[in-house]
Amino acid sequence: MTDAYTRFIRSAPGGALAKQLGLPRPAKLLRREDRPEPVLGPVVVVGDGAGADGIAHLLLERGVDVRRRFEELRKVGSVIIVADEISAPADLSPLVLPLAGAMRSLVPGARVVTVSRPARGSDPARDAARGGVEGFVRSLAHEMRGGATANGILVEDGVGLDAPGVLGALRFFLSARSAYVTGQMLTVASGAGSHTENESLPLAGRTALVTGAARGIGAAIARTLAADGAQLVVLDIPGAGTELARLANELRAVPIQLDVTSAGAGRRLVEALRERGLALDVLVLNAGITRDKLLANMTADRWDAVLAVNISSQITLTEALIEAGDVLGEQPRVVSLASTSGIAGNRGQTNYAASKAGVISFVEALAAQLDSRGGTANAVAPGFIETEMTARMPALTREVARRLSSLQQGGLPVDVAEAIAFLSTPEAGGIRGETLRVCGQNMVGK
Ligand code: NAD
Repeated sequence: MTDAYTRFIRSAPGGALAKQLGLPRPAKLLRREDRPEPVLGPVVVVGDGAGADGIAHLLLERGVDVRRRFEELRKVGSVIIVADEISAPADLSPLVLPLAGAMRSLVPGARVVTVSRPARGSDPARDAARGGVEGFVRSLAHEMRGGATANGILVEDGVGLDAPGVLGALRFFLSARSAYVTGQMLTVASGAGSHTENESLPLAGRTALVTGAARGIGAAIARTLAADGAQLVVLDIPGAGTELARLANELRAVPIQLDVTSAGAGRRLVEALRERGLALDVLVLNAGITRDKLLANMTADRWDAVLAVNISSQITLTEALIEAGDVLGEQPRVVSLASTSGIAGNRGQTNYAASKAGVISFVEALAAQLDSRGGTANAVAPGFIETEMTARMPALTREVARRLSSLQQGGLPVDVAEAIAFLSTPEAGGIRGETLRVCGQNMVGK
């Protein structure tokens, strides 16, 4: 689903005109179907501490072509900068400057990932260095070309760099699955989770429910989770019953017709799962709506409908599932849909942004609640994604929204789905209460 401008720019006359006028020239993003390998190699691991050695070893064990020096390669697929031991800003230069000379040898769609520790306000010099990594990553992401990305993994002090969550995050950021994620930092808070036994089917044996699955991002999430081996339960409003049945047939999934805002929705969902003997390992809270208006024109029905679908229903459904006790598996993974509007705000979206900012805080609190049973809750915040929701935007606003990101294009539903699939894996057990942006580094908010 390439937009008309991108198609024109990729034609010979369009490309020449764009170059002359300095117009955006969005690169073709490589996705899983183009590059199915779990890590885009060859990989250069930069850093000379034990952490860097350990990461190089972990990847080598998994058959990845790993090098320790750029000089060994003419073309570089991925770079991992391991900066876990820095104690002052000056420590950054030997870690980042080798990449300066190698930037031109990065292949299209290359990946750069930093692995470092978060600044927690205890040691000024060390925290300055640690905080600096984030600034480096966010700026580098703006400089990457050809669909290449830069992201960072923050590993809490005391958590080993061999933790399942670190390896899982590395594999996500170093693969084509993270095509539309750039300029982001993701924290691994603990060593919880387990290494994936079946790398090609990381969700084998897991049952996943997706709300709002009949179309758009929800349908892509269901397809991606199914491709990763999960048994699917797909839920949508009765009005979307035909599309839902079609998807359920395609994926051999269990369809549930339910308006998540209806009275007793939580109880009815629990009953539907019990009737079929299902316990959920993965719950994706995706159903969402927009009812945009400036606050001056906002009506109670528009405000209330958005809050009810986008956040209140998530609270009632998860409460019902947790209280029921027998319809959630062990170590459940909850992933909710936020939005960059919930981070930065957006004109005409006070209702939507309130609901999505609510999601971000909701998953933090829910993660704390699920922690004792090894469960996690996280959110994914899409930027501009090409769906029916965004097709309804005014044409000019839509065009501006597409180009205002480092990747200069809208993302696809599958890009959001890939991030959710990663957060749903057993490996992602140490990642909790996070909001991961899937926005091509959309230039809104922080
Ligand atoms: P969409 O409108 O294409 O699909 C939403 C689905 O949710 C539909 O199938 C709809 O029937 C279902 N739904 C709506 N109300 C429901 C209810 N009360 N009960 C059950 N199902 C209900 O939207 P989309 O673009 O695929 O968005 C999916 C999610 O991603 C939403 O939460 C949205 O806010 C979020 N999001 C989308 C974008 C984007 O650019 N498209 C950006 C940021 C966030």
